[in-house]
Amino acid sequence: MNENANHAEPAEKKGLNFIEQIVANDLANNKNAGRLQTRFPPEPNGYLHIGHAKAICMDFGVAQKFGGVCNLRFDDTNPQKEDTEYVEAIKQDIEWLGFKWGNIYHASDYFDQLYQFAIRLIEEGKAYVDEQTSEQIAQQKGTPTQPGEDSPYRNRPVAESLELFQKMNTGEVPEGAMVLRAKIDMANPNMHFRDPIIYRVINKEHHRTGSKWKVYPMYDFAHGQSDYFEGVTHSICTLEFVPHRPLYDYFIDELKQGQDLDDNRPRQYEFNRLNLTYTVMSKRKLLALVQEGLVDGWDDPRMPTVCGLRRRGYSPEAVRKFIDMIGYTKFDALNDYAMLEAAAREDLNARALRVSAVLNPVKLVITNYPEGQTEEMEAQNNPECEADGKHTITFSRELWMERDDFMEDAPKKFFRMVPGKEVRLKNAYIVKCTGCKKDSDGNIVEVYAEYDPTSRSGLEGANRKVKGTLHWLSTAHCLPAEVRLYDRLFTVENPSADPRDFRELLNPDSLKVLTGCYVEPFAANNDTGNRYLQFQRTGYFTLDTHSTPDHLVFNKTVGLKDSWKA
Ligand code: ATP
Ligand code: MG
Repeated sequence: MNENANHAEPAEKKGLNFIEQIVANDLANNKNAGRLQTRFPPEPNGYLHIGHAKAICMDFGVAQKFGGVCNLRFDDTNPQKEDTEYVEAIKQDIEWLGFKWGNIYHASDYFDQLYQFAIRLIEEGKAYVDEQTSEQIAQQKGTPTQPGEDSPYRNRPVAESLELFQKMNTGEVPEGAMVLRAKIDMANPNMHFRDPIIYRVINKEHHRTGSKWKVYPMYDFAHGQSDYFEGVTHSICTLEFVPHRPLYDYFIDELKQGQDLDDNRPRQYEFNRLNLTYTVMSKRKLLALVQEGLVDGWDDPRMPTVCGLRRRGYSPEAVRKFIDMIGYTKFDALNDYAMLEAAAREDLNARALRVSAVLNPVKLVITNYPEGQTEEMEAQNNPECEADGKHTITFSRELWMERDDFMEDAPKKFFRMVPGKEVRLKNAYIVKCTGCKKDSDGNIVEVYAEYDPTSRSGLEGANRKVKGTLHWLSTAHCLPAEVRLYDRLFTVENPSADPRDFRELLNPDSLKVLTGCYVEPFAANNDTGNRYLQFQRTGYFTLDTHSTPDHLVFNKTVGLKDSWKA
């Protein structure tokens, strides 16, 4: 420890999470020559989900906080599942979340170096080509309390392994016929040390290196080394990699041997992964939902993907607020989806433009309002933020109101439209309900009311107290719209822990499409640049990405209150 470190303020005191404390202490101790470099290492085999957002907030966040750099590294070591479509989507999502990478790297940038390193390990008797099947290899692995068995190929001559490894890379060896294994210790209590597979044959074009390679390194043989080549100081990942850490260090030690004797090296730190109730986070399952048409693409608003949340109407700030709320620990847990919604609600309350939308309309006629007359009523864009300004909404004799807001025979506490009672129409007049018209089946087709001309919002008469304020639209001054309401994607709290196939656990009612809704024009066309809306009294909404001027589609982001409470 140097002088400085002894005088540094203890990191725990600064309200830092445990990884930030480690980083603060390392910097204070001048580890890695006082450098801080992190990386976010997605495999481009799917779209990012909110779990990745948690990792992004950590990797980029800590670099930002302590003046370091965070690079984006595509962990592209398995061409079977990877694609440039994912590469582009990942970049877009990181930027949307509000982060900037230093450089973009690829694990495939190091294929040559990794291959040379593998050859060196073979030459040093520290790796060998195994011709057994993966089942045989698995059978010999032993258990944590029982040592494994040596492969019959473990002690084959170096020259033989060298020749075979080269053959593995020329296309002469079919997939699965041979692998390269590190020769470490078949009795090690850490199973990852029992001669891990470090290279396998994959006969598939790689999206960056084409057909140059037929052998591809395994995660454990690529990740730490890539960190080392790039100069990563803190390699932050999730808890399932804890048992991999000794192997991570082992390969870096082997790599450094004789070349770099100082203590410049990456170190791995782990935090708890994000698991959310009523959804799944596995890319394999999310991909299946997309490929089997069980959802409307990766950005289906019910998906836990970053693009799904975006399309649903979440702001990047809401996502980050949620990540902040749940924090980083060393224990895995299941986080409540309701917390994500609470974060969205809090964020959108401060951000959303208030507009009028009627989802289940019935006509309201103001019988004493002159036919053909209209008035422009002022509506505040956001009462939480004066600076957001105002817009106008047109009032007229014929309006739409919510069908649920009228009752002929209402209980006492129903402070809405009831014959003989007064109610305020938001930003407009106090009206008194005078009755309704029904069709031959008894369905209400029109509601009638009379307005008090002295009660216009802002006028003297407006001060009169009335319980209940309703939203409305002028039938001649609004736009038709489709509105999509979403519920949990899965019916069980923890689908990943359920023995049934995840497809059986899908909520058949997770999407409800309402047609015949109306919105004020400002909801669909305004030049504020703000895409976050509150349909007053209903919830938060946003225009769907597939919405067109001829067919408006809105997605419900979240309700005004938590409606999931049992
Ligand atoms: P796969 O299921 O294909 O292994 P993955 O979910 O691990 O994918 P990667 O692309 O390998 O996805 O992940 C990139 C980074 O995001 C890793 O550092 C990983 O630890 C982190 N990450 C992935 N899922 C979560 C999660 N649910 N919570 C927090 N971090 C996560
Ligand atoms: Mg992974």
